[in-house]
Parts: sequence; C-alpha cells; structure tokens
Amino acid sequence: MCSATRAAHPLYLSWRSRRPGAALLVPALSSHPALRCEPPASCLQPRVTVMASSESSAVSELCQNGRQVFMDASQLLLTYADNILRSPNEEKYRSIRIGNTAFSTRLLPVPGAVECLFEMGFEEGETHLVFPKKASVEKLKVVRDRIASERDKRLNRSNLTAASATESAQPAPSPNLTLQANSQHVLVYELPELQQKAREHIPVSELNARAQEKLKQARSLEVDTTVNEDDFLTLELLRWFKEQFFVWVDSLPCSKCGGQTQTKESLTPSADDLRWGAQRVENHYCSKCQYANRFPRYNDPGKLLETRRGRCGEWANCFTLCCRALGLEARYVWDSTDHVWTEVFSSSQNRWLHCDPCENTLDKPLLYEVGWGKKLSYIIAFSKEEVVDVTWRYSCKHEEVIARRKDVRESWLRETIAGLNKTRQQSLPEQRKKELLGRLIVEIVEFMSPKTPKPDQEFCFCTH
Ligand SMILES: [Zn+2]
Repeated sequence: MCSATRAAHPLYLSWRSRRPGAALLVPALSSHPALRCEPPASCLQPRVTVMASSESSAVSELCQNGRQVFMDASQLLLTYADNILRSPNEEKYRSIRIGNTAFSTRLLPVPGAVECLFEMGFEEGETHLVFPKKASVEKLKVVRDRIASERDKRLNRSNLTAASATESAQPAPSPNLTLQANSQHVLVYELPELQQKAREHIPVSELNARAQEKLKQARSLEVDTTVNEDDFLTLELLRWFKEQFFVWVDSLPCSKCGGQTQTKESLTPSADDLRWGAQRVENHYCSKCQYANRFPRYNDPGKLLETRRGRCGEWANCFTLCCRALGLEARYVWDSTDHVWTEVFSSSQNRWLHCDPCENTLDKPLLYEVGWGKKLSYIIAFSKEEVVDVTWRYSCKHEEVIARRKDVRESWLRETIAGLNKTRQQSLPEQRKKELLGRLIVEIVEFMSPKTPKPDQEFCFCTH
C-alpha cells in the first residue's frame, strides 16, 4: 500500500486517532455507571500504585478498563509477548498486521492496549506493528510481567469471590465494548485484499448474468419498474451463499469416526486460532471414540471464506464481506438477543433492506419479532461510514421494545452513537455527508411509523 492510499484508508484513519495520547473516542463513556464492571475501589487501587512509577503509563491505562475488557486484551497482549519470548528469531511473531481481526477488535478499541505494545518495543510500520531486531527483549519482558501480574491479581480476586469455579458462558460484553468492537470490525470488509479474496470465491459473472436475466424478466412484466440490477444481484448472492457456499453448524460430525458429537466445555484457543479472531474454541466431543473435535469460532471473514461454516455470527460476517466485494453497500447488523445479519442499501428504493443470509431472506424485517417471537431490545447497524440504531425497523411493538430497553440510558446510547459517527465521518466529503443525512432522514421516517405484520412474515423457515 502506498502511503497516500494508506492515509485515506478508513482503518488507518481510525487507527491514527487511537495513537498514544489520543483521547478516547467518547471520553464520557468510561464514567457511565452502567459500564463499571468492578467496584470503584478495586479498579482505582492498581491505577494509583502503578501511576506512581512514570514508566508504566500504558499498563496503568490498560488497568483502568473494566475487568472483562482488561482480561481479554491482556490475554492477547501476553500471547503476542510470549510468542516472541519463546521464539525470538521467528519472524512471524515479530509483526502484527494492523488489519488483523483480533488486533483491530480486541486491542485497538481498548484504551492503553496498543500503548502497551509500543511500550514493549513495537514500532509502527506501513501495514504492521513490528518488533524490530534491535528492540530489547528485556524491556518487552518487563512490560509483559507487569501485565501478567495485574492479570493474576484479578484472577485471584475472582477466585476468592466466586466460590464455584465453573466454566460458565462468558458474561455479555459491556455495551460500550460491543459498539466499539463492531464499529471497528466492519472496517475489515473494506480491505481491498479481503474483497479480492471474496471475489475469488464468488461466481461473480454467473451471479451477474442471472441478475441481468431476472431484471429483463421483471421489465417485460412491468415496463416502468424501478427495481434495478443490484436488487437482483443481492437476491442471487443470498441464494448462492445459503444454497451453495456456507454450511450451518450445530454440532460437527466427528472427524475421526464420523459419529455424532456433543458440545462440551470450551477448549483453549491456540496462537493460530487467535490470529483469526477465534477467542472461543468449542469442543465437539465424540462419545463414541472420545475424540475432541475443535471448532474455533473464527471472526476473520477472510478465514471464513476458507472454512465456510458456522452459525449466524460467521454467516453474517462472511456474507457482509461478500456484499462489499460485489460493490453493494452493506451494513453488519447486531441484535442484542443474539443474532446478526446484514442490511443492503437499495438505490432503486432509496432505503436499507433487511438481508439475512442464514434464512436466504430479503426485506422481511418482522421475521424475528413476529416470525420467531423474539423479544427485541437493541438492534444496531454498523458500516464503514456510520452506526445507526435500527431497532425500530424490526419491530411493530415499539412500546414493548422501549419498556425493555434498560441496559443503558437512551441518552448515553444516542451520544455514544453520535460520537462514533462524528469520528467516522469527519474525513468524508461534504457531498457524501449530505447523502448519508438524507438517507438517515428517510430511515427515521420509516422508524417512526411501525409496520403492520403481513402474513408472509409470520412464516419461519429457519434452522435457528
Ligand atoms: Zn468419533
């Protein structure tokens, strides 16, 4: 990447804004009571002690995050550091790709995390953070040990308080982290090399030909139809993705004996799993041959083009990349009741269309509430250009939804989203900002008038 291209890349821009010393995207966030994962005393104490020594400001900044955020980021930092300490001559461990999903979703949004890497001795290169040959491994170890000791403190503390050491499901991440992580993650879909990789898997000319054929038919039925080729391309992509490309996984067949497996306690992710953003590795255990089949839940859409399987998370992640690779404007949509899908902007209809690859479904936004009976509360859409609270598109029971929205204050959510958008849009041309504003107004009008369920939205074909 030449430096001019790089400077204009959204990922790079957001990266620049998080350089050491740069303020938090939305400074008010960290003080919100809803985001305090720990009692104030416990998180203040380490901060005060460490602040006394001026050379570890990065670790102390990292310590100010909530417990779960700290534990997650520090785990990844230790992996990076330990890899170098174990194999100091291994080139691949000395550089971290900035576009890497684990890095961009688990470290980049976390105050202090990237700063820890700089303190360890990493330097910023064109596309990677590099630990140069001349850098001191001793210094790296000092920073590494500080992080490890902060981790141990927190682990000991939780052992004392939590009597049962059950390996339960992970607690839900804080709303702040979810917003930050998703809005960072969607930038991955804009990487030219990932889009190229996606086009190598998609039968592009076949899908285009089919879309053109369908458009011809539509026009022969209705001369002045406003539907365009992209609308049909979206339908073709959905069909191909569900019917020919991606596979749904509940439990994997045993790779040794082909028998049925059951999901047991999680396994520890390897360095390679973490490289592809798999923080969780499921154990699909075969009781017939006692083999533990590993199922890493990859978060890197490029990796998913190869594995081609998963649940809605993997489906929506990989599908949104495929949309972007075909030049469709797409958003990644996150629903707090544990589902994700895509939205595609239809230029012929001047509105965002609900688009669920798991269901091969286009424009049936009431599918979840009316079809599946979900009790919705927060549904947020993320693209390279904006974050939008789209909950209202998916519900015809707005009052019930409002009554359920108790996780965060509405004003906090509004301000946080506005803050993210301000940062994201500051480098956009005026013309584009106007365009987005125009769309947002259309969207708000849509949101303000709840839909009436139609019979076809009550059907449920899902494998969910
Ligand atoms: Zn088996």
